[in-house]
Amino acid sequence: MHAENDPQLFEAGAGDGRARAEVDQFSGLPIADEILVGGQWCQGAGERLFVQDPADGTLLAAIHGADPDQVDRAVRAGGRAAADDRWHDLLPSDRAGLLRDIAHRIEDAAGTLARLQTANTGKTLTETGALVASAAGTFRYFAAVVETAEDQLTPRRGPYLTMSIHEPIGVVGAITPWNSPIASDAQKMAPALAAGNAVVLKPAEWTPLVSLVLGRLVTDTITDHGFPPGLLSVLPGSGAVVGEAVVCHPGVGKVSFTGGTETGRRIGAVAAEKVMPVSLELGGKSPTVVFADAEIDQAVAGVLFGIFSSTGQSCIAGSRLFVQVERYDEVLEAVVAGAQALRVGPGTAPGVHVGPLVSSAHRDRVAGYVEQARAEGGRICCGGHPPEAEELAGGAYYLPTVIDGLPATAGACQEEIFGPVLVVLPFVDEEDLVAQANGTVYGLAAGIWTADYRRAWWLARRLDAGTIWINTYKQFSISTPFGGMRASGLGREKGIDGLRAYQRQKSLYWDLAGETLPWALG
Ligand code: NAD
Repeated sequence: MHAENDPQLFEAGAGDGRARAEVDQFSGLPIADEILVGGQWCQGAGERLFVQDPADGTLLAAIHGADPDQVDRAVRAGGRAAADDRWHDLLPSDRAGLLRDIAHRIEDAAGTLARLQTANTGKTLTETGALVASAAGTFRYFAAVVETAEDQLTPRRGPYLTMSIHEPIGVVGAITPWNSPIASDAQKMAPALAAGNAVVLKPAEWTPLVSLVLGRLVTDTITDHGFPPGLLSVLPGSGAVVGEAVVCHPGVGKVSFTGGTETGRRIGAVAAEKVMPVSLELGGKSPTVVFADAEIDQAVAGVLFGIFSSTGQSCIAGSRLFVQVERYDEVLEAVVAGAQALRVGPGTAPGVHVGPLVSSAHRDRVAGYVEQARAEGGRICCGGHPPEAEELAGGAYYLPTVIDGLPATAGACQEEIFGPVLVVLPFVDEEDLVAQANGTVYGLAAGIWTADYRRAWWLARRLDAGTIWINTYKQFSISTPFGGMRASGLGREKGIDGLRAYQRQKSLYWDLAGETLPWALG
């Protein structure tokens, strides 16, 4: 869903009043109408964003986004900061110290950050608490990586010392989506700073608040350590104006993007024109596979968590379930019963499994996919509409929905819905499964549920997916590379590859023997 298509986001009709009272608990944090341009807080000169709580539609904040001149100022300030000797020549251990301090400050503000993210995205507090912890862990992990990452002495082929070294790129443009803002922001900011770059962050239109608060924590820490404040900018605004200005700016040496495949293609095209490195973490339509020999209770719990956690708004959502024919009816029945038992409600309420979607515009888009599936002959086994409870009427809720009876070519089986919608399909054997599971343009993740480890190993190597879970789903380690294949993206985040993605490589040949080259004159 492109936020630009949501009129409520940009127009005063969304409510031009004051932010609601509960949000004042965040005062002292930049819910004020300010953005971070080259280390300086100021009012944005671009379009106003009306940021809402999707649990009840109330206004959280109205902030002006950046304009192209502010993007230009941010990139120039970033360029100066990245070249500043205080930062450029810093020992990795000192850079690691900065990152560890940022991690501490995130942890100190964990409760506030989680509540703010729940208010802005609708996710449950359990989920946003985990995202905040993961953001802190990401900074700490990249502190360790930069302190231990080595350059190489390469084998000698002459009287030279030959080396391959890694250095910062300069200014990195980081563009993030709305579904897990603090974790996506940290996954770009931490390795990019660890590698010695400056960062210009463009958060998503619907969810700029937590990125601005993170920006405050990070930039305060940078300043306290005596480093140039221009190392970080946080520039909310539309993708079409602010995002494009960041990607196209000649001073931006790399873009790291997480978001939809369509946007990724556009950014990739600009990168090709600029001959600029780019990382693209894009969409998915990930299969989860249940074989007849699987431990069914465990598999069903994993399938439900894989699709319905985060209300299905997860790039790795297991949105296509393949069940071996022998146990199809049994598994479908258990999945439907499980989906119906999930508690839908505000992310702040205890015991809630499924919060609202990020906005009512996005909820309507999800509902449109379900209607299309119905029209294509799909059977809606559960859900298929918003909850009827009166107290949820003002929020962007949609019930966990399970659909079967669709052909694999149907829109709901091919396109990323990014909501709480699961399609269920039967398969006969491994060959049939591989053909069906690989039968979309995507290749982000997959889950395999089986008791046969040889089959799991065989299948894991045949599925087109950057991450495969076996008898589990949606579990992550910051030290394990993550990224997509095919239309799900290019490059890897996390792990040592996550640091290398923000460095450029240089080779040195160093004559230590005083050798005279053959063309020496005289
Ligand atoms: P989106 O592509 O609409 O927007 C993502 C970001 O890109 C936003 O900040 C947006 O403003 C910006 N943007 C839009 N057009 C731009 C342009 N022309 N130039 C530069 N920036 C531009 O995606 P979304 O709807 O915010 O997020 C949902 C998508 O993100 C889903 O497809 C989901 O699968 C994907 N996602 C992928 C991962 C992953 O790691 N693979 C993780 C989370 C989300």
